[in-house]
Amino acid sequence: MKSWKSRPVPELPGTMPALQLFETGAGKVVPLPVQDAASLYVCGITPYDATHMGHAATYVGFDLLNRAWRDAGATVSYVQNVTDVDDPLLERAIRDGVDWRELALEQTALFRSDMEALNVVGPERYIGAVEAIEWIVPEIEKLMAKGLAYAVAGAAGDAGKSGEPDGDIYFSVEAASASAHGEGYEGPWWLGQISGLTEEEMLPVFAERGGDPQRPGKRHPLDALLWRVAREGEPSWEGGSLGAGRPGWHIECTVIAQRFLPEPFTVQGGGSDLVFPHHEMGAGHAFALAEVQMAQHYTHTGMVGLDGEKMSKSKGNLVLVSKLRADGVDPAAIRLAILANHYRSDWFWTGELLEQAQTRLARWRERMPTLPGGSAMLVLGDIRAAIAADLDAPRALAAIDAWLDATAPADTPSELDAAIFADTVESLLGVVL
Ligand SMILES: [Zn+2]
Repeated sequence: MKSWKSRPVPELPGTMPALQLFETGAGKVVPLPVQDAASLYVCGITPYDATHMGHAATYVGFDLLNRAWRDAGATVSYVQNVTDVDDPLLERAIRDGVDWRELALEQTALFRSDMEALNVVGPERYIGAVEAIEWIVPEIEKLMAKGLAYAVAGAAGDAGKSGEPDGDIYFSVEAASASAHGEGYEGPWWLGQISGLTEEEMLPVFAERGGDPQRPGKRHPLDALLWRVAREGEPSWEGGSLGAGRPGWHIECTVIAQRFLPEPFTVQGGGSDLVFPHHEMGAGHAFALAEVQMAQHYTHTGMVGLDGEKMSKSKGNLVLVSKLRADGVDPAAIRLAILANHYRSDWFWTGELLEQAQTRLARWRERMPTLPGGSAMLVLGDIRAAIAADLDAPRALAAIDAWLDATAPADTPSELDAAIFADTVESLLGVVL
């Protein structure tokens, strides 16, 4: 798949301090390893209902990290997937009476145009699940050969429901986790490593987020689907010894990340609803395949609601970036509204939030050509310090506001300072003045 086009990131004078970032597994902010080459995998969308504000906040959040690394002089390898075949996409296509491929293509294109508008730096590799199937099949075969995956027998359906065919392949969490190695083994992967949840806590979350704890024939209720064999009316692909079918979602991300990024790569990112089971299982698959950790660091963004309520497709209250753009809202104002919230917090989209962002953006643009000489380097240092401290964008915005309050318009404004201010805001916050 094609990535989206990004504006070049302006280079800034001076240096970025060492980055600190929240690590989900550790449950605290920790220093990120200092390195010349950083690598990032952010889980992509399943292309339907793109791009709602929750998606936008996630990709803008990790864009801050991407930009901070670049400002620190690191080269960044960034990979993102798009789950262009999966149950929710197929269900939506059936509901709307459209071809699933067309729905996926149309929504992926819309997502890319939203990302360009929001000035999110594009990944070097933007990989579709469908194009990854030929790489995924041999990896699942490898897990079978290692005894870490198994096929489940089919089951007859309840009255009126179709049964399950033979041969769906599952990942054995017990075989793959440290607990299987006996007492005293401090393995590099165990169930709960990323989420910190107990098995009792995992079960309802697993069922809620696409897992099938009740599926008869599984060895453990939390075993995750690796390969779904072909069903009538569902798309399927050649699967070698697995038989025709399609891959599960967790193995999709693991294989794409391991194929294109170092093992381990630096940061695995996504929304907080991906901590379990998606990232937990992905980490398990990765260690089972390569015997190294998938990522050094796991970071997650908060959830976005609307006016005090959870945003969901079932409630019909999704705020779509494309709809705001079509209504004439400046994408830079949308981005500023997102950045007014810390990436890790859960927050609500409101009309007031957007108005505040529009006012702020207008003020920044108005003040840019009035700055006195020597003023802009001060605020550059403040923004860098805020971003280095766990990507604290709200602190960065507040620092700019306070600096403008304290800086009187100059009789002879400095073009250099106007340029430094604009470059700073664009380079580190992605907001184009
Ligand atoms: Zn993923």
